Amino acid sequence: MKNEMRENPLEALRALFDEKTDGIVVFDLEWNQNSYAPNLRMPHEIIEIGACRLGPQGEITDRFSELICPRLYKRVDKHIRQVTGITEQELSSGRSFPEVIADFMRFCGDAAQLITWGRDDYPVLRRNLEYYMQPSPFSPPLDAQLVFGYAHFGDAHRQMNLHAALEETGTLLEVPAHRAVYDAECTAALLPAVSAALEGLGEEKRAELSGILERERRIADSVLRSRPTRHTVQTDALRDDAVTNLLCPLCGRKTSFIVPWFDAGRDRYEAIGQCPQHGKAEGQMHLKRGSNGCLIMHQRVLLAAEDEAAAVKEAYRLFLLTPPAKRHHRLCMEEVRRVSPKQNFPTKKG
Ligand SMILES: [Zn+2]
Repeated sequence: MKNEMRENPLEALRALFDEKTDGIVVFDLEWNQNSYAPNLRMPHEIIEIGACRLGPQGEITDRFSELICPRLYKRVDKHIRQVTGITEQELSSGRSFPEVIADFMRFCGDAAQLITWGRDDYPVLRRNLEYYMQPSPFSPPLDAQLVFGYAHFGDAHRQMNLHAALEETGTLLEVPAHRAVYDAECTAALLPAVSAALEGLGEEKRAELSGILERERRIADSVLRSRPTRHTVQTDALRDDAVTNLLCPLCGRKTSFIVPWFDAGRDRYEAIGQCPQHGKAEGQMHLKRGSNGCLIMHQRVLLAAEDEAAAVKEAYRLFLLTPPAKRHHRLCMEEVRRVSPKQNFPTKKG
């Protein structure tokens, strides 16, 4: 019996799965966007879903490949066309997102462990589902890129692209690059190498990886919110409740601040809120300038572990120790240049 288990090329990888997992589905998405006029409810629109289902030994038992006729962005972004080769004509023959996603859900079944290469696909999938007001039945996928980076290079943040990883591990596969289903197949082909690299890790390293993956799942399940504001200056935006409200990622109710929004550096604000029911929530916020000169708020909120909340609290304590003149340097500069948005940021129409 034991021998039989050892012979499974995915054994070490399977140890990272949820216990209730039934089956493995590797998927990949292609999406389209309009960088000049993004719709903030769905900045990235999925145009292709590709996936393969794996048997117990990691062999491919079924494939899924569907193009999606876009609702928002009919023109294929130049870069995306170059990378994927997908044309507008092809897309117009695709089915709608609700139709394709219903088929994809059936393909996945109820309890499959999802796997992707990289962490970008799942948030896009969730946002597309939200746009069509469909509840998401999916749990966060396992990020094979992260596991590979950690196991192979000892660094979870070492992001090697799929084809470089195929080369690195000497995995040979003759498939055209960058279409969703082929990328899913490449990821599936890499899994035995990822699993083998995991086997070489000591107990301590494996425990550390589990911790990293647990936080990744919370990040993947975090709530993303983007909204335009009428403000041109960050300090004004930070006085606006509509911008600063920190909502619990589980129940959506307003949390009360334990740590208020503060400038955590690198253009990022952080805060900690408390939901009476679900505990601490960590907020991260960027204020980016839109093409009309006004600020656009981008917020991410995730449930925070106690040590993570404590780390943010400590960063806030250090922030308060910084002399205000230095602390608000960037904000002060904006105050000095307070001018109307049109003067400062001429738009094409203006
Ligand atoms: Zn809550």
